[in-house]
Parts: sequence; structure tokens; C-alpha cells
Amino acid sequence: MSDCIFCKIISGEIKAKIIREDSFTLSFLDLNPQAPTHVLIIPKKHIVSLASADEGDMEILGRLQLAAAETARLLKAEKAFRLVTNSGKGAGQSVDHLHYHLLAGRKLLWPPG
Ligand code: 5GP
Ligand code: ZN
Repeated sequence: MSDCIFCKIISGEIKAKIIREDSFTLSFLDLNPQAPTHVLIIPKKHIVSLASADEGDMEILGRLQLAAAETARLLKAEKAFRLVTNSGKGAGQSVDHLHYHLLAGRKLLWPPG
């Protein structure tokens, strides 16, 4: 989608520190980290949010989960990390391209608030 920041990161138009990539997903460092490790994992397909994903996205959603786990392993965070997606403005979603936040490297509180 032409005016989407994350689609521009996928195309290389906007630079980001890429952690890993495959043909379906991309993991890159968040610009405004909320933990020592803060990576965004996104599908290369422009899906607005988890709420707008449908049955046709089943494979991509599975790959996204596996990409998150692989990202955690690559960053040696597999023993303690949190994966979260904000779906909808009321939940704090500010970029309308589905993404998971992978947070690690500090004590993660619960409930998250
Ligand atoms: P949301 O608020 O939608 O759950 O998460 C969007 C995330 O994208 C935020 O954590 C924000 O810091 C990050 N972000 C926004 N613009 C950019 C950008 O241009 N590059 C990178 N690497 N991260 C971005
Ligand atoms: Zn997009």
C-alpha cells in the first residue's frame, strides 16, 4: 500500500535495521524501543490489523508466529520474551499494517496496562 510506512520498509524506501527476513515476513528493530530488545515482526502482505485478517491469511499468520519465535532465538531472547499486537486505535495501534511487537531484555510486568 503506497502510503504505508511498513510497506515502505518492506520495499526499502524507508530504512530499518533488519533482523531477519523471508518471503512472507520481515523482522526489524522498532524506532522507539520500549525494552532493550524491541523488534517488530510484520507480514509482507499489507493486512491492516489482526482484526481484519481472514481465513485466506491463515498461512501468513502461522508464518508470522514462527518468524517471531525465530527472531527471539536469533536475539538470544527465547527464554523470556513477550509478543503483543495492538489491534485498533483504542488498543494503541498507530501503524495500520499488522505487526507483532517482540519485547525482551527487561522485567515484563503483568498485567501490561
Ligand atoms: P503500534 O503503536 O501500531 O502498536 O506500533 C507501531 C510501532 O512502529 C511503534 O512502536 C513505533 O515506534 C514503530 N515505528 C513507527 N514508525 C517507524 C519507522 O519508520 N521505523 C521503525 N523501525 N519503527 C517505526
Ligand atoms: Zn503496509
